[in-house]
Amino acid sequence: MTDSSPRTYAFFEGEFVPLGDAKVSVMTHAFNYGTGVFEGIRSYWNDEHKESYVFRLREHFVRFLKNTAMVFIDVPYGVDELVEMTVNLLRMEGFPSDMYIRPLAYKSSEQIGVSMEGVADGFTLFAVPYGKYIETDRPLSLCVSSWRRSSDNAIPSRAKVTGNYINTALAKNEAVRNGYNEAIVLNEHGYVCEGSAENIFLVRNGALITPSIADGILEGITRDTIIRLAREELGIPTHERQVARTEVYYADEVFLTGTGAEVGPVGNVDGRTIGGGQIGPITAALQDLYFDVVKGRKPAYSDWLTPVGLTRRSETAAPVA
Ligand code: PMP
Repeated sequence: MTDSSPRTYAFFEGEFVPLGDAKVSVMTHAFNYGTGVFEGIRSYWNDEHKESYVFRLREHFVRFLKNTAMVFIDVPYGVDELVEMTVNLLRMEGFPSDMYIRPLAYKSSEQIGVSMEGVADGFTLFAVPYGKYIETDRPLSLCVSSWRRSSDNAIPSRAKVTGNYINTALAKNEAVRNGYNEAIVLNEHGYVCEGSAENIFLVRNGALITPSIADGILEGITRDTIIRLAREELGIPTHERQVARTEVYYADEVFLTGTGAEVGPVGNVDGRTIGGGQIGPITAALQDLYFDVVKGRKPAYSDWLTPVGLTRRSETAAPVA
């Protein structure tokens, strides 16, 4: 192989293949019934270090394996193997840029009928260059969605089940069609749950408030990161509790968190200006901290980073091409 320019691959059916060759049949169980579980992971390119860092990779795979087990999808790899597979994939691809990494386990048999008994399991992993999911350098405009978050007693909220993302898609789509950037989704009881694919934080009187893990949220890794950075770096406590819709309008600051969304400042909710419509000081401080941590500029949090070793690409076995 003489051409070493970056290109995308997928781990699919037990081997690395060019991403375009990783294809499933239209009869695949997961394609028809939404029987898959996925993760969204980011790596960040640090140009000074000439290195890519994957953020909280182990935690994503721990969550992934808990979720796949919850919905009876068997993944034949442990956390260590999945971490190694991801590092190999990123090295093989060799992009000196920020990347989005997507593991996906799914019911792979080609059959009619929703039962999962005796249905085979598939696993794939791919990574593509990726920039912003939502704007982070100017305040977002949000609406409260007319769609409720699907109940934990209908589809496990914390499980990142593919089928559940029609709920996310409807909420996001409605918001965008109506001229907003994002949606706030209420839970079945009418309390604030999260964004369409982000957790939500309010700032009131110098403290953070966020819906609790019993409110039907996805237990976000970015949410956990922000709670820890707020406490450890800024001495700011977080109250995890029920949040009523109108409390959002009252808040001094509001922001969204997620692997894709990062830390997204909110300037407006349902036409009500939040905190003067500017990025609030606590949001700005947390955003700065977050980007320093994920990009490898804060050594105290280097345990959260998995260096890819892009400069050691030649040590990785050549993919099947
Ligand atoms: N809620 C939902 C519904 C999501 O899809 C996501 C994105 N995974 C989040 C919250 C944020 O989670 P994380 O910070 O782990 O990406």
